[in-house]
This record gives sequence, structure tokens and C-alpha cells, in this order.
Amino acid sequence: MERDREVIVVGAGPAGATAGALLASKGHDVLVLERDEFPRFHIGESLLPNGTRVHALLGIEHTPDAFRYKRGAQFLCETTDRAVSFDFAEALPGPPRNAWHVERATFDTLLRDRARAMGAEVVHGVTVRGFENDGATVRVETSAGPVTGRYLIDATGQDRLVANRKREVRPFKTFGKAAVFGHFEGLSDAAWETIGPGNDIRIMMIDDGWVWVIPLPDGRLSVGLVSRRQGMKREWLADYVASSRYVGALVKGAKPPTPRVLSNYSFRNGAPYGHRYACVGDAACFIDPVFSSGVCLAMNAAVSLADALSMALREQREGDGAFLDGHRAMLERGYETFSSLVHRFYNRNLVSNLFFGAPEEGDLRPSVVSVLAGDVWRDDSPFADMLMRSRSTPWRETERSDAAPYSLT
Ligand SMILES: Cc1cc2nc3c(=O)[nH]c(=O)nc-3n(C[C@H](O)[C@H](O)[C@H](O)COP(=O)(O)OP(=O)(O)OC[C@H]3O[C@@H](n4cnc5c(N)ncnc54)[C@H](O)[C@@H]3O)c2cc1C
Repeated sequence: MERDREVIVVGAGPAGATAGALLASKGHDVLVLERDEFPRFHIGESLLPNGTRVHALLGIEHTPDAFRYKRGAQFLCETTDRAVSFDFAEALPGPPRNAWHVERATFDTLLRDRARAMGAEVVHGVTVRGFENDGATVRVETSAGPVTGRYLIDATGQDRLVANRKREVRPFKTFGKAAVFGHFEGLSDAAWETIGPGNDIRIMMIDDGWVWVIPLPDGRLSVGLVSRRQGMKREWLADYVASSRYVGALVKGAKPPTPRVLSNYSFRNGAPYGHRYACVGDAACFIDPVFSSGVCLAMNAAVSLADALSMALREQREGDGAFLDGHRAMLERGYETFSSLVHRFYNRNLVSNLFFGAPEEGDLRPSVVSVLAGDVWRDDSPFADMLMRSRSTPWRETERSDAAPYSLT
């Protein structure tokens, strides 16, 4: 901790571990500071194909103890019984043809181990409290004393180190704001027959929100409810399960969880880049959980940041933020595409109009599946173009806010 570093990464989640691993593999001296001991619980269990392509760069193997095969996504309306499935193999050619479900405790530990194996020093149990970045170095204040480096990467997720300090939290006011969720244990064989063999994520449309159903590698079932009603309560998960024919049947006889509640997670950081620092992953922006884009965007952003920063460090240009222009443009395209999609989901009945009306959308379907697979940086996708051309741009309409902070209970 005492010597000067090239790069100090705060947070060892998917964004921080990926950025740290890739920078270290390019020969840079990287210190990753992580507040929590791993393994630890984290939400974000359903991955997208275009995020899992990053796994190869990190040398990650998809072993069955840590990864459950995910063929695609199914959207189901519980009131009308309408359903539509999207198989990632139908997407435009490019990324992997499937994705994976993970337990984040295991996945994040694996990523941390890969970061270490690729040369980053990862220290747990150290909380970063602040930083000074007005000179030729960055001075970081931590619970274990100060540390200095040439560059700081804020990968603190929803703790939002930079955005909070700079009062640059800009909530997406019209997206989902709270979720209640947990893991059911001991599912019946009949339930596994319904879920398998593709293990698609199920998104259940309900009156005032939606529900996720994600089969985990160790045989548990993650069920989460996102509601637009005010005052989210733990009991709402059990109430929903009792009222749902589909999910009720899946978890019949299974051991119910003690639910957790998360709130105020959809926001954008108004100052994600500055002198000798960049934010990556949720610390830069988190749009909404509905299309499982969080880890995919976080890991792709980390790859792009590591590439740009590595070159700037070598050429001693890291003090001039212009080196991030390409990275910034790439990321904004990803965030704009997903925020436009999420806007349609919550405000324009996207699922009824486009997904359930699929036959007319034959030509659009491969590009719809591509966006659902997280493949949002290609120039031959009519659906991605349509989203980018949209006049409703929640990405740009966010404002600074003193709204209630993110919380997990
Ligand atoms: C309800 C809900 C459901 C979701 N479901 C999905 C899903 O199915 N699929 C998906 O892809 N995404 C999902 N997400 C999003 C996903 O959780 C995040 O996008 C993802 O975890 C972001 O990774 P990250 O590395 O940026 O941050 P994190 O994974 O949050 O990692 C940040 C790390 O920084 C550490 N840290 C924080 N502050 C400090 C500090 N001051 N000092 C040191 N360390 C610090 C933390 O301990 C943590 O380990 C969901 C989100 C929500 C809210």
C-alpha cells in the first residue's frame, strides 16, 4: 500500500476486477482496493452473451459449479397468458450464442482470482473514503491510510464514490426504483423440467411491474419483484408468489428465502470522467435490471477503459482526459440504447406492442435479439438504430438530485 502505484482501482466487482486484470496483464502496476471480504452476496445473476465474451479475455472457463447455461429470455404476461421467447442463437452473428446464470458470490470471487493471477494486487477489507486529484498524482484516503497513484478508477458500484462526492447523482425518474428478491431452495423435479433445458430467464409481466425468475448453478431459484408502487415491502415477494400460478407452481414445496430489498439504483453519474480519474460499471451509470444489462455494460466498459488507459499511461498522456474520447462515445452509445429500450418497457408497453406482436416484426427479430444479447455496438442492427434515433432520451434528461440514496436491507 505504501509505494506509488500506476493505477488504483476502487472496488473488485465485475468492473473493477476486469479493469484491474486487463491493465495488469498489459504490464501496469495495479492496486485494487475492495471494502468487503469475498465471497459475498451481490445481486446481478443473469448474464448476457456480449458480456460473457469478455470472459475469454480473462481466461475464465464456464464450469458447471459456477455457471448455469442460459439459452435466452422469455417474457410472460400472467393476466393474459401470452408468452414470447428469444433464443440468443437467433441474434445477428457475432457474440456467443448463449449466456450464463451465476451466483455473484462465486462469480466475483472467480473474477478477483483472475485479476490476481493476471498480476493485479487485490487487497480486501480496505474502504476508500476520498481522494485528491488536483496535481500530477492522485492521493487516495483509505481506512488503511493514504495511497498515491497516477490514475484512479472508481468501480465502487452503487456506492458511487465519485458521483456522491461531486453531488452528480442523476436518477432515472421513470424507471424501476425498488426490488425485493431472494433464493428459493429445494425445487421439485417437476419445476426443473419446466425451467430446463434452456434455463431461460423468465420475465413475468404483472400489473404494476415485473418479476424475474433465474435458475442458479447450485440448484436454487432466484425470484425478484420490481414494482412501481411506492413503499416496497419484504412481504410483497411472498404475496406475489402466493398469487402467481406460474411461479407458485415452480416453488411449491421449496424453502422460501428471507427477502432483501434494494432501492434507488437507477441513476447516471454526471461526472464520470475527470482529471486522473474515470468511473466504470455502476459507478458511472446503472440503468435498470429488466434487461440484465448491468454486468455486460460494466465488463465491456472495463475492457474499453483498460485499452485506452494503458496506451495513455505508456505515452504519459493520462493527465489529459482527451484520451477517453473514444471510450466515452462507445459507452454512451450503450447507455443510450439500453435507456431507450427501458423507457419503452416502462412507458410505451414495449412488451405488448413489439414482443407479443412478434409476427409482423419478422425482419426486426434478429436485431431485437441482438440488443437483448447486449450487442449494442454494431452498425447493422435496425432495432438498435431505431432505439438510438428515438426522441425520448431519458439518458440526456436526467438531472442532479438529492433523491434518497441507494439502499440494501
Ligand atoms: C435489482 C437488481 C437486479 C439486477 N440483476 C442483474 C442481472 O440479472 N444481470 C446483470 O447483468 N446485472 C444485474 N443487475 C446489475 C448488477 O448488479 C450491476 O450492474 C453490477 O454488479 C455492476 O458491477 P460493478 O463492478 O460496477 O459494481 P459492484 O458489482 O457493485 O462492485 C462494486 C464493488 O465495490 C466495492 N466498494 C464499494 N465502495 C467501496 C469503497 N469505498 N472502498 C472499497 N470498495 C468499495 C463493493 O464492496 C463492491 O464489491 C441488477 C441490479 C439490480 C439493482
